[in-house]
Amino acid sequence: MSIIEFKNTSKHFGPLKVLDGVDLSINAGEVVVLVGPSGSGKSTLLRCINGLETITGGDLIVDGLSVTGSAKQLREIRQEAGMVFQQFNLFPQLTALENVAFGPSKVRGLSKAKAEETALDLLEKVGLRDKAGHYPSELSGGQQQRVAIARALAVKPKVMLFDEPTSALDPELKQEVLNVMRALAEEGMTMVVVTHEMAFAKQVGTRLIFMEHGHIAVDGDPREVIDTPPNDRMKDFLQHV
Ligand code: ADP
Ligand code: MG
Repeated sequence: MSIIEFKNTSKHFGPLKVLDGVDLSINAGEVVVLVGPSGSGKSTLLRCINGLETITGGDLIVDGLSVTGSAKQLREIRQEAGMVFQQFNLFPQLTALENVAFGPSKVRGLSKAKAEETALDLLEKVGLRDKAGHYPSELSGGQQQRVAIARALAVKPKVMLFDEPTSALDPELKQEVLNVMRALAEEGMTMVVVTHEMAFAKQVGTRLIFMEHGHIAVDGDPREVIDTPPNDRMKDFLQHV
């Protein structure tokens, strides 16, 4: 059963066509790794899924709801699709615990005590329970990104979207974030991940998509298509990541 369905989806920014009639169906439990040259539309594709960008053609259904539906539907979609960005985007004036508890209390309407209990469990899950009282500025980049993942999980999304989550991190900090993502995948979370980490794609991805000029050029098994790229552009791309 598909949880995300692009149906001839287009996105224009003025005259610029960034998504060009994308057809893509993602099932629950899939870990889709999205790669492609800069400007090919990867971030836009992710951002359309949780309504950060509005589509300009076709349709896009998330968990049975169209992103072109009512404002209420869009709010529901935003809760179902958690997003993690390259720049961790934590609230700097809130502690790790408060960052994670924010969604459950504001969005899901939990009491402060319940929200903080949920937040502590999530910090535990990402290995940061002992940093609950720390502010983002007191955490490493890898720790901040793990807090950001916990924060996104706090509203119990059905899908997690990751936009180059390790690109801003030093190599030695990337792995701790990738490990958290791997654990999430192993629990069966549906994930769409834009990343240049090809080892992660091969080990954790269930599907790899190569985008070019706003459309899907390759869609296949990560190990197969990374080891034997089906076209020269993808081959060329892989040589440069
Ligand atoms: P990628 O993530 O693959 O690098 P993006 O989805 O960020 O690509 O961008 C695809 C194209 O859309 C690029 O040419 C980019 O400049 C353009 N674009 C992205 N966001 C906007 C925007 N808000 N306004 C105008 N153009 C945009
Ligand atoms: Mg991008």
